[in-house]
Amino acid sequence: MQQDSPGDSGTQDLEVWIDQDLCTGDGICVQYAPDVFELDIDGLAYVKSSDDELLQDPGATTPVPLPLLQDVVDSAKECPGDCIHVRRVKDNVEVYGPDAG
Ligand code: SF4
Repeated sequence: MQQDSPGDSGTQDLEVWIDQDLCTGDGICVQYAPDVFELDIDGLAYVKSSDDELLQDPGATTPVPLPLLQDVVDSAKECPGDCIHVRRVKDNVEVYGPDAG
C-alpha cells in the first residue's frame, strides 16, 4: 500500500515533453496548463521545471504534478502539432500523446 503524502511533491510518475519541431506556437497548452508550459520568445512552447525554469534542451522532460494531470492531458489532446508527449517515468512508455498506444 502506498499513500501519497502532501510532502511527496505529488508528481506521481509521469513526465511530459514537447517536440518543438512540430510545435505551431498557438499556445493552447499554455492556456490549459500555464504552470507546466510556456511560450518562449522564439514562439515555441517549452516545458518548465517545478521551479518555473524554462527547459529548452530538445526532449527535456518535466514531472507532471498530479493536480495538473488533466490539464496536461487536455493539452496533449488539443495540441494542433500533436507534439505533447506524456510518458511514464519508470519505463518511458507514452500514455498520452501521439505515440500513446
Ligand atoms: S499546444 Fe502544441 S502546437 Fe500549440 S503551442 Fe503547445 S506544444 Fe505547440
